[in-house]
Amino acid sequence: MNKVILLRYGELHLKGKNRGYFEKILIKNIEEKLSVYNCKLDVYRGRYIIHNIDEQVISDITSDLTKVFGLYSLSIGYETESEVDKIFEVSKQFVRSGSFKVDTHRADKNYPLTSVEMSALIGEKLLDAYDDLKVDLHNPDFVIYIDIRETGKTYVFCDKIKCAGGMPLGSAGKGLLLLSGGIDSPVAGYMMSKRGLKLDAIHFFSYPYTSEAAKQKVIKLAGEMAPYCGSVNLVLVPFAKIQEAIHKYCHSNYMITLVRRAMMRIAERVAIIRDCGCLVNGESLGQVASQTLESLNVTQSVIKRLPVLRPLIGMDKEEIVEISEKIGTYATSILPYEDCCTVFLPDNPVTRPRIEFAEAEEAKIVDYDKLLEEALSGIEVLKI
Ligand code: ATP
Ligand code: MG
Repeated sequence: MNKVILLRYGELHLKGKNRGYFEKILIKNIEEKLSVYNCKLDVYRGRYIIHNIDEQVISDITSDLTKVFGLYSLSIGYETESEVDKIFEVSKQFVRSGSFKVDTHRADKNYPLTSVEMSALIGEKLLDAYDDLKVDLHNPDFVIYIDIRETGKTYVFCDKIKCAGGMPLGSAGKGLLLLSGGIDSPVAGYMMSKRGLKLDAIHFFSYPYTSEAAKQKVIKLAGEMAPYCGSVNLVLVPFAKIQEAIHKYCHSNYMITLVRRAMMRIAERVAIIRDCGCLVNGESLGQVASQTLESLNVTQSVIKRLPVLRPLIGMDKEEIVEISEKIGTYATSILPYEDCCTVFLPDNPVTRPRIEFAEAEEAKIVDYDKLLEEALSGIEVLKI
């Protein structure tokens, strides 16, 4: 009787002929997670089984696997020969108090018992062996699942642990996440990774207006996203000179709008250089002045070649916070370090900016293109 972990994938079932492509990436991602443990993934006819498990780290392994996008659920179970006595012995491992049922699935159609017969037989044996057990086929306290395979092996398990779902990381290509130090952008990254997007991240910092600690916070956040989003290349862009210039030459009410347009311009350039097919940010409609429909439009209008994905656009802050807590970035996100968006903050940020006005303001900035180039040439890339 061997302890195993059984893995199941979800949406990939829908992929028809392309399933092989998605499965290959999923398997690679699972193996990457398992590489720090001494266990082994076996794949047979779309069934994923992990063998060779060290009991001491089994909860670490399952915890890591619940964060692999593309997996739908997993179970800790036992592998045994497909013989009734052995299956019964293994089933006993899962007995608790209360009511139960046995649910058998039989891939081996030559097996001498039908699945209904096997369930009834094991159920009866368990009833005989334990006084306080009773059967409830409709609303049992626990279910013992028996999976008889065509390989001569049978798998017995009880609980199904929910995994992250979504699509395998990397199966949808790569995007560039605009990562601030706030709550929203790590969640936006998580949401798009869940749909298979591998991420690079870009962060704009305004040293000396923002501190080294603020930059370290973003590096920490990128690290905290890794269990779900994998390793991230973090592009750090020195942004102070551009902000100074906007502050110096432009109407203060447009400060945020123009800062965000400059960020988008640089982000698009970086994305194209780094082979990213989209930009991702944490904007949510109406959350702040820079996220009204008009503001989104004026900001987006500088982007020429890539889509801007905003997975949080229709979400409430509360929902975003909930995900942030779940994925483990919240505590860092609320550390009180300033973001570059708070530098030269105007008293009255415009909520309905106009494109023509933004363009006219930008035309006042001396050497604007040169400043953008300088920022681009000052970038630093960290692999996190
Ligand atoms: P967040 O919680 O992600 O900071 P927010 O609600 O504070 O979001 P804004 O500060 O207006 O909203 O930023 C909107 C989005 O712009 C962010 O979610 C992020 O994607 C991007 N962004 C803001 N500041 C930066 C920055 N310094 N570097 C990179 N991206 C940024
Ligand atoms: Mg912010």
